[in-house]
Amino acid sequence: MICLGCLQDKKLLGDYCKKCMVDLFDGKTPKALNFDKTQFYRMRSELAERMSISGVQDKLSLAFNDRNELVPVVKNGHYILKPIPMNPQNAVQNVEDMVANEHLSMRISKDIFGIHTAESGLIKFSDGELAYITKRFDYAPSGEKYDQEDFTSVLDVTSAKNGDDYKYAAKTYIDCAKAIRTFVPTYIPTLEDFFKRVVLNYLICNGDAHLKNFSLYRKSDALNLTPNYDIMNTRLHLPKESLDTGLSFFEESTKVFDAVGFYSYYDFKYMSQLLNMKESRFTKIVKLCQESEKKVNDLVENSFLSNDAKEFYKKSYHERLYKRFLYVTTI
Ligand SMILES: [Zn+2]
Repeated sequence: MICLGCLQDKKLLGDYCKKCMVDLFDGKTPKALNFDKTQFYRMRSELAERMSISGVQDKLSLAFNDRNELVPVVKNGHYILKPIPMNPQNAVQNVEDMVANEHLSMRISKDIFGIHTAESGLIKFSDGELAYITKRFDYAPSGEKYDQEDFTSVLDVTSAKNGDDYKYAAKTYIDCAKAIRTFVPTYIPTLEDFFKRVVLNYLICNGDAHLKNFSLYRKSDALNLTPNYDIMNTRLHLPKESLDTGLSFFEESTKVFDAVGFYSYYDFKYMSQLLNMKESRFTKIVKLCQESEKKVNDLVENSFLSNDAKEFYKKSYHERLYKRFLYVTTI
């Protein structure tokens, strides 16, 4: 049976393997949720104004009650639940695949790329429909909440100062990297982790990796990059999306980008140099990518995407890997 946490064919207790129960649910065995999606939306509108999670997506904060059931809470929820949206915007396609897409993308980040990534899984509503669940990383097991700021705030970017498109257009990934170098004491491994996130987002066609989808938090007294969160293949849902990435890589595009019209091997190598990564580390990441396709395809097959979405995910990954990321030209 496929585990709803790691998407591996394993011996399960309920819907999860033992490791996922420890990683995602602190060793508890969660039951299916005791409400369905209609009730989710009703509770969401009742609790929305009092809840501490933000964002436009439909989300609820959950916590375990003393019967090991995950129930909606206003405060101190250690989980976030996202269903398949009920009233998506008109341009959004393949809505039924959204939950499985986000879960699969998070697992690729964690299990194949080894990126520090929020714990994630799928969970059943009372009628069996799957929702996406992720464990909040801004709480210590003791319940203490870590200070956290996304990169709009780290880089002091606002709609008032920088316009409506501020999350995407005001800064570059190099600006984010400079902030990491300034604020994170362990910036050498953190910059490599950040670089891998940029590569991963490109390969999985996440055009939404903007400033709010990267954050710093204060854990053990020092600032660090939070685990990876909110990633998916956005092109599956927005086929006409104009962006290949959330942000531009650099203030000024490279001569290779100007010639070919997309980010390719040259741009990634140049970025790694600006991040002062050792060439051997860059080469290691390239090798990881070259070896990733079979693992990604296997995970896609085990995922809960529809068959058409599985084909799209695999095809788009292949194209981004070979026709863009590994594309070398002599300009
Ligand atoms: Zn598992």
